[in-house]
Amino acid sequence: MNPPLLRVENLVKDFHVKGTDIHAVDRVSFHVEAGETLGVVGESGCGKSTMGRCILRLTEPTSGKVWLGDTEVTALNAKALRALRRDLQIVFQDPFASLNPRMTVEAIVGEALTIHKLTANATERRDRIAQLLETVGLKPDQMRRYPHEFSGGQRQRIGIARALAVEPKVLVCDESVSALDVSIQAQVIGLLEDLQEQFGLTYVFIAHDLSVVEHISDRVAVMYLGRIVEIASSHDLYTQPQHPYTEALLSAVPIPDPKIKRRRIMLGGEVPNAGNPPTGCHFHPRCPIRQLPLCATERPELKTTADGHQVACHLRG
Ligand code: SF4
Repeated sequence: MNPPLLRVENLVKDFHVKGTDIHAVDRVSFHVEAGETLGVVGESGCGKSTMGRCILRLTEPTSGKVWLGDTEVTALNAKALRALRRDLQIVFQDPFASLNPRMTVEAIVGEALTIHKLTANATERRDRIAQLLETVGLKPDQMRRYPHEFSGGQRQRIGIARALAVEPKVLVCDESVSALDVSIQAQVIGLLEDLQEQFGLTYVFIAHDLSVVEHISDRVAVMYLGRIVEIASSHDLYTQPQHPYTEALLSAVPIPDPKIKRRRIMLGGEVPNAGNPPTGCHFHPRCPIRQLPLCATERPELKTTADGHQVACHLRG
């Protein structure tokens, strides 16, 4: 069996804010196979976007390792990292913020072609940009326009074309559809699925909404206050969630079939402050089945069950 394409081992990112250490990412480990989509979900502030940025080293991790195939991304010097960025790309949430308003689409999509010297001359470059725009469902004659002349969904397509320009292996989609209307979300997700099939792409798909990741993900990881609390195949996670936090998140997802009823689990309290997280299991103050003192004193590690389902809970798995 081939090793996973992307491996994250014990990744930690601490921020020092006003004299307080915030553990934004707290010993996170997972892998993603080539051609697979791993969805990552959790409430805002749970560390999922920081984790995504650490994979690409857009944010430097405090400790831990990231591997892309045989290459340890976290050990590369700046020059080697720039070269590796061809393989590892990111599509951001906010196309307004991530596209330079003073650059044409041609300049935005073509920038990486120039940096990585991927085309021999201006004609080849323009042809490649036209091809990339067509690939993401835009018209080649739109390349002379500026980002503000496009809708939100079209801007996100420009962001995807920019990422695809360097023929990456892995795309980290950081809340890439969260700012879009539901129908546009579905179109962009459909596009990402088509591109995955066409180019054999591997995705880490980050979102705060479980219903968004369900259809695109092969497996889903659930994060809570910097830690992964559950990882399972998409089917298992949605039909047999193990962690009480996942159960609560899922109970809020509407089911299209009116015959299926799901009991809504209301969690007490707010998401705790990441600068002063609860001891033991971070979820214990909100957990409906907590067992004290165990849950308040000991951190539950991710355990793997026989069917490959992983859960971090003293009472489950
Ligand atoms: Fe709840 Fe305890 Fe499990 Fe945490 S470890 S999810 S507090 S039962």
